[in-house]
Amino acid sequence: MRFFLSLTIIMIAYCLNGQIIRKSELLRRMDKGAELMLLGNYDSAQVLFQSVLQNMPKLPSDITYYFGRNSYHLRKYKQSINWLNKYIQLKGTKGRFYESAIQYLQFAEDEYLKIEKTRIEQISIDLENAEYDCEGLEKMLCPVCHGAGVVIQTGLFEDTYKTCPYSLGEGYLSCTEYNLFMRGDLEPKVGN
Ligand SMILES: [Zn+2]
Repeated sequence: MRFFLSLTIIMIAYCLNGQIIRKSELLRRMDKGAELMLLGNYDSAQVLFQSVLQNMPKLPSDITYYFGRNSYHLRKYKQSINWLNKYIQLKGTKGRFYESAIQYLQFAEDEYLKIEKTRIEQISIDLENAEYDCEGLEKMLCPVCHGAGVVIQTGLFEDTYKTCPYSLGEGYLSCTEYNLFMRGDLEPKVGN
């Protein structure tokens, strides 16, 4: 019994000791990372910060600021915004990096918005210029009459059919016409 008790005590002591060393080592890495970040060595700083984030069971609030700011320097703006916001939430206006966190948050948000705007503009340019290759087919099913060649006109008493004004009853468009149609530039070949 006494043996097991002392064994347990030894094990607990060992674990605690292991944890203390581990924690101080992680804190050292965080400080080293901060130093490297201030020297402009952002990649190396990031490696150290990541090891702290991955291994520290309870994260010190400072790491959220460091990681957020360093992410900004590495142009990971969304990540930067998220972590800087965490820091501000954790520490409020009393955090020792509060001013700086607000400043970098603003920088990161500006850059993020710029990128988002460019991305959205690029999408609309791509859509405008999209050319359908018609999968190598010369003729495409007419999207107006769906290949029927006729369109239904709803009348007052009865529905009437009329020849599709785009495919002229054929039910197909050429690939060029198809592209025009998709861009909204295809005019009906016959008026009503
Ligand atoms: Zn048609």
